[in-house]
Amino acid sequence: MSTFDYDLFVIGGGSGGVRAGRVAAETGAKVALAEEYRMGGTCVIRGCVPKKLMVFASGYGAAIPEAREYGWDFSEPSFNWPHFRAMLETELTRLEGIYAANFQKAGGRLYEARATVKDPHTVALSTGEEVTAKHILIATGGAPYVPTTPGAELAITSNEIFGLETLPERLLIVGGGYIACEFATIFRGLGSHVAQWYRGAQILRGFDDEVRGHLAEIIRGRGVDLHVGLEVERMEARDGRIWVKGTDGREDVFDQVLYATGRHPNTAGLGLEEAGVKLGRWGEVVVDDYGQTSVPSIYAVGDVTNRIQLTPVAIREGMAFVETVFKGNPTKPDHELVPSAVFTQPEYGAVGLTEEQARDQEPVDVYCAAFRPMQKSFIDRKERVLFKLIVSKASQKVLGCHIVADGAGEMIQLAAVAVKMGATKADFDRTVAVHPTMAEEIVLMKQPTRSH
Ligand code: NDP
Repeated sequence: MSTFDYDLFVIGGGSGGVRAGRVAAETGAKVALAEEYRMGGTCVIRGCVPKKLMVFASGYGAAIPEAREYGWDFSEPSFNWPHFRAMLETELTRLEGIYAANFQKAGGRLYEARATVKDPHTVALSTGEEVTAKHILIATGGAPYVPTTPGAELAITSNEIFGLETLPERLLIVGGGYIACEFATIFRGLGSHVAQWYRGAQILRGFDDEVRGHLAEIIRGRGVDLHVGLEVERMEARDGRIWVKGTDGREDVFDQVLYATGRHPNTAGLGLEEAGVKLGRWGEVVVDDYGQTSVPSIYAVGDVTNRIQLTPVAIREGMAFVETVFKGNPTKPDHELVPSAVFTQPEYGAVGLTEEQARDQEPVDVYCAAFRPMQKSFIDRKERVLFKLIVSKASQKVLGCHIVADGAGEMIQLAAVAVKMGATKADFDRTVAVHPTMAEEIVLMKQPTRSH
């Protein structure tokens, strides 16, 4: 008989925390979870899900002129943001309800409260209650980081973007990562004038260089006013709008400024260090391969550990935690060959190494095809899709796969299975093409474009 109120107390109702709590409860463990905002966390409430719905909404905008060229005829369309925003909110509320219901159905107890760690086995709730638990799981995710630029308080982050009252006519996006690039093409597709300012030499640092250049060209071609090597020097509120001065001396006025300058772990004021939990430089919870912190009864999963900030990774970490702690089967989450997609328009899907990483590691052949896909070349669009494989000369294994195309997120999920299995270039080659598709190119690239 446990002397604790719960076997597990989860702090944070996002993807990682809810999955871990639900699966732990299904083993018969007594589980509670505290969430201070809305069940579902970043992914469901202010991240992946509303973002993807906005990608869909935005995509229709680009499809309309193309449809006309294909022969469709209709009167001038316009996008009704309040209509979409209301639908979005209804959907998020539905999903939030499902998250809460599934957790409770599994036997978990939900606290709609902020929780802080009092000691290695005690959690204090904002309701005034204190509960004890054999294990505490920190799954509080991350929060947008905004630099201390003068006037930065006038800007919004991805937390606020979904709730805007009106669609901004002129939007400035600061940053060059996933969020900045995704919202640049989303709002452009919805009809806003979008400027994007990025401090570095090329957007999407960390991704394949060739693809970064290709995508930047497309983003500009779609009408995003993208500038690299440019930062905001200061901002001021002027006549209900935001006046912005750039580090190159330029001045401009926008309706909204979105800072997408990274996300930091959400650990402030959680009582972790006081309880003996070691935090890293960015406030991240330092964990071992099994998610255990420096306090043996406290574990952490997801963005709060600042490893790979992706929902499916947090879910895997949550599952591995339950295997380790509640099923007696010590399991390390697998962080190798994690595929991901940047939901720009078109999308960029990637798995494995970039060309730069691979050639630093070993001799490689690079296969790359960039071409105008049938659907677009029919109406004389110049935009090219890109398919790229990076292959080890020694083992012939495909070390990296990169795709820029409509639907690249879907394509890379399937290509990732092959890459994860250790497929060789010959395995790709002996797979028959599906014709006519764009993706058939992945099995048709015969000669290396270059070798290193
Ligand atoms: P990213 O880390 O992807 O990008 C942050 C951007 O902000 C970089 O371009 C960075 O520049 C820039 N930046 C950082 N600090 C400053 C500063 N002080 N001044 C100016 N620019 C700055 O973060 P995001 O916020 O875009 O997204 C957070 C994470 O969420 C992503 O890393 C990803 O893991 C996840 N995510 C995943 C998505 C998906 O799977 N589709 C979608 C959205 C988010 P620099 O490169 O020079 O450091």
